[in-house]
Amino acid sequence: MQSEDQWADQSPQQGRGPGWNPVTGMAGWDPRLGPPGWGPQQPFSPPHVPPFQPTRGLSPWGMPARHSWEIPLLIVVILVTVTGYLIALLFLLVGAVNYYVVLVTLAPLLLWFGRGTNYSMQRLNAVKMSPTQFPEGYRMVVEAAARFGMATVPDAYVVLGNGQINAFASGHGFRRYVVVYSDLFEIGGQARDPDALAFIIGHEVGHIAAGHVSYWRQLGMFLVPFLPIIGNSLIRAQEYTADNHGFCNRHLGAPGAMKTLAGGKYLNSLVDFDEMADRAPQDKGFFVWVVNAMASHPVLTWRMWALRDRSRHGRMFLRPSGPPPPRMTATPPPYPPAGPPQPMPPAGPDDRTGSYPGYGEIPGLPPR
Ligand SMILES: [Zn+2]
Repeated sequence: MQSEDQWADQSPQQGRGPGWNPVTGMAGWDPRLGPPGWGPQQPFSPPHVPPFQPTRGLSPWGMPARHSWEIPLLIVVILVTVTGYLIALLFLLVGAVNYYVVLVTLAPLLLWFGRGTNYSMQRLNAVKMSPTQFPEGYRMVVEAAARFGMATVPDAYVVLGNGQINAFASGHGFRRYVVVYSDLFEIGGQARDPDALAFIIGHEVGHIAAGHVSYWRQLGMFLVPFLPIIGNSLIRAQEYTADNHGFCNRHLGAPGAMKTLAGGKYLNSLVDFDEMADRAPQDKGFFVWVVNAMASHPVLTWRMWALRDRSRHGRMFLRPSGPPPPRMTATPPPYPPAGPPQPMPPAGPDDRTGSYPGYGEIPGLPPR
């Protein structure tokens, strides 16, 4: 497992070779080619750049960028919400009271109540991550908060997942917290895929760092459930922003997190991240557009494509196009194997993750 500490040991001067770009802070790194060391033929090597860059972008080495559609869509949604609120007040004044008028008028109170009860449910029922309870997850939350320059580390809880793969972030008052479903951990509180968990925790802490869980912002987005396309598009842009945070926190975990979302916590190893991402430009048609436009999260193939193509923000409405970016994961061996049957090589650790292939899993790199 690659840890950020290994990169922190480098002095900033070490990375400023001939290819160092003072604007992007990237040392000769073409985002379309992936960072140095990526690719199926080369083992991963630490990047020759300092671990922290103040510029915001889509590379894993700088600070994470906000999706370019997020703020414009937020402004539109806030304008619609404020207009709706004023109309509801007008209806109230003339005595035309119905369910929607009451709902919108009481929005500030309802939101405050909902956030307060949600926070208290975690405080009363969930396991609070600490140096002694789920220490691995706790450390990841602390590291992600530091990575994003946050002054306060959010609280973090584990709740019983009952088979569901999920996590979320929220807040109440000045408190901020993330909740991770227990299925993302293995027996003994260890992560099944530490890199994937670091990506997911980076995603959730990223929601907090980007201000998505503030009371005033959520009040301004109160009408989102009634705005199927524009509301969901704002949520989708926020999810891309959070993915950018997860990618900055642990880019190596992006494929693992997406594979778990696609195949679940047991069969994720049978999902080929790149093969699935390659389908993003191929599946087309009106209903593909509709399903994406109505989705609160980026559809999975587009989301995978966006995590692999770091030269531009994830697509909001039109499917990705162009040649597929280089593979992010190792190329699986050809199947069926050519030639006479060969004895199975002894199982060894995956060069990139250090983990052993499990049942039905293709080794990360061809055996040497
Ligand atoms: Zn999210």
